[in-house]
Amino acid sequence: MNEKEKDSILAGRGRPDDPVDNALRPTTLGDLIGQTGVKDNLLIQIKAAKQRGEALEHVLFYGPPGLGKTTLAHILASEMGVNIKVTSGPAIERAGDLAAILTNLRAGDILFIDEVHRLGRMVEEILYPAMEDFALDIVIGKGPAAKSVRLKLPRFTVVGATTRLALLTAPLRARFGAIYRLDYYDTDSLAAIIRRGAGLLKVPVEDGGVAEIARRARGTPRIALRMLRRVRDYAEVEAGGVITSAVAVAGLNMLDIDHVGLDDLDRRVLLTIIEKYDGGPVGLNTIAASVSEEPDTIMDVVEPYLLQLGFLDRTAQGRVAARLAYEHLHKPYTRPDGQPSLFNGE
Ligand code: ADP
Repeated sequence: MNEKEKDSILAGRGRPDDPVDNALRPTTLGDLIGQTGVKDNLLIQIKAAKQRGEALEHVLFYGPPGLGKTTLAHILASEMGVNIKVTSGPAIERAGDLAAILTNLRAGDILFIDEVHRLGRMVEEILYPAMEDFALDIVIGKGPAAKSVRLKLPRFTVVGATTRLALLTAPLRARFGAIYRLDYYDTDSLAAIIRRGAGLLKVPVEDGGVAEIARRARGTPRIALRMLRRVRDYAEVEAGGVITSAVAVAGLNMLDIDHVGLDDLDRRVLLTIIEKYDGGPVGLNTIAASVSEEPDTIMDVVEPYLLQLGFLDRTAQGRVAARLAYEHLHKPYTRPDGQPSLFNGE
């Protein structure tokens, strides 16, 4: 396996056309594992909309990549029995592109906009009245003879997804009737997702193997399912096909994923902070440059998980490596006052 392939498994970023992602996607809210709070709220929202015979309110999902935002958008469409049109912020380059999409929607349809924080300004200006008044303002002609015409649109639903709620403009955010945060999954939910995936892929897997993958999947279903597929390959080629605990450990070690789910990039980020910058504080861009990665990748994929593990602190001055990170990497802990101390003593 080359480095690039390895990166794509671990980075947690999906390719929207990934056929296996699509094949493993749950199609009803009942099939969706975990995220109970979000699920309960959506059930009520769907029921209420159906009772009134109306389109769903605009919904925004936010959270790290691979937690199920796209999946939820598809589930909403199938639960409501409507069509879904899938696009993304960067894909809608001009206002005209959005106008073309909007005029092709039918009543009740869902327009799923991934990376909604990356919509251009002109495009957003079109989207505001479309979301609020179901109207499209278009300008016909040029110069003094130009006039604005308002087209009525059917009532439709925007489902937005973003990894960065803070980058969403306030007016856009205000137009979503419901905003849901998706959190990392606990290991029990991940284990259930892996078992379901193994069933669909017809891979024999033992409980120990499931637990091992779940533990290292950094709380993320997409990563869990990708690991399952890589470990399946390993099991088939090297170990007679069944994913036992030992097979999972061996397969995952080959991917350089350690027992808490850190990959090479996570470790390089922590080591940079610890070794080059004395544990921090150090700015995001400096870290990104040191490990030759995009700041966006560090912020969306690496940091949230390190924060969750308590390995990293975010301060006003920059990122700081926490004591747990030193312990995990077997580095002597140097306190902020510069006094070195033993791993667990003061
Ligand atoms: P996001 O849009 O947040 O990046 P996706 O919706 O594309 O994430 O999900 C990534 C993969 O994880 C998909 O293959 C999907 O089937 C799977 N997945 C996500 N959430 C769940 C869940 N709650 N239960 C089962 N599979 C899930």
